[in-house]
Amino acid sequence: MTAELIDGKKLAADVRERLKMEIAAGQGEDLPVLAVVMVGENDASRIYVRNKQKAAAEIGMVCEVYEFAESIGERALMSSLQDLNDNPHINGIIVQQPLPEHIDPLKILAVIDPAKDVDGFSPTNLGLLATKEPQAIVAATPKGVLQLLQSTGQELAGRHAVIIGRSNIVGRPLAMLLLNQDCTVTVCHTKTRNLAEIVRQADIVVAACGCARLVKADWIKDGATVIDVGINRVEGKLCGDVDFDAVKEKAAYLTPVPGGVGPMTVAMLLENTWEAAQRQFREGKAGSAAGHGHHCSCGHCRS
Ligand code: NAD
Repeated sequence: MTAELIDGKKLAADVRERLKMEIAAGQGEDLPVLAVVMVGENDASRIYVRNKQKAAAEIGMVCEVYEFAESIGERALMSSLQDLNDNPHINGIIVQQPLPEHIDPLKILAVIDPAKDVDGFSPTNLGLLATKEPQAIVAATPKGVLQLLQSTGQELAGRHAVIIGRSNIVGRPLAMLLLNQDCTVTVCHTKTRNLAEIVRQADIVVAACGCARLVKADWIKDGATVIDVGINRVEGKLCGDVDFDAVKEKAAYLTPVPGGVGPMTVAMLLENTWEAAQRQFREGKAGSAAGHGHHCSCGHCRS
């Protein structure tokens, strides 16, 4: 069997096109605004942020970057986040990680207004996801993985999904998301014994461990669906956590790296921001034109 590749690039382009049309059609409403908070200097973070800005601009979304010095204290950062929470023009807030050592990311994430927490990393949104509340904002990468799975048209209920990785940004929220889809979920990690044996039982394998080509073809049940979240650089080339060339001959569906989960992550962040903005517009909490009935000169609003 040769796997059908799941084209994340195409799926993400479709999502971005839809968002662009919806935002353009929102006549009379404010433009959605995403605030990206960056602390200190980090080359990788800068590239990620630039990509997010570019992707936002392409769909007509405003992306404002708030940069803080490496030396900023935890309290000062929390207070700046509170200002962003209180700013009615801002619909989504993300804090680019990693943060400097002296700042506790959990404390910072807990300050973000759950309605604006478009990364879905705040304890409130994780709790809403865990309790299957529909208003949960779901982290972009797990949400992208679910949409990639759904794009194959297969029934998810009752399937055994094995996730390799238990990080707060991928493995854990994905476990809850797939449980909410009625999958039977197993989460594996560095202390898991007999990893290969467990993966062999999976109808769906999601590799999110950051180990280049860890998942071998003889770990894969014939006809399984394999989603590769990993991004690794080996001899200057990008590869995932799955031994792609060999696994391709065993799986029914497989995502490539690059061109699988990566593009979906950015598209899902934009989708989360647009959905949060729409909720805020509806509830009259955001912006000025629609919600508060006065003319605004902030430069973002259409009024
Ligand atoms: P992380 O380092 O925070 O977590 C890795 C997890 O994998 C841990 O829970 C660990 O227990 C587990 N693990 C590590 N080695 C293992 C092994 N040999 N066997 C079993 N479990 C093992 O990483 P993360 O932030 O969750 O990211 C995981 C990978 O996904 C990385 O390659 C990262 O670059 C990539 N990633 C990609 C996207 C995307 O958009 N495509 C988004 C986020 C992360």
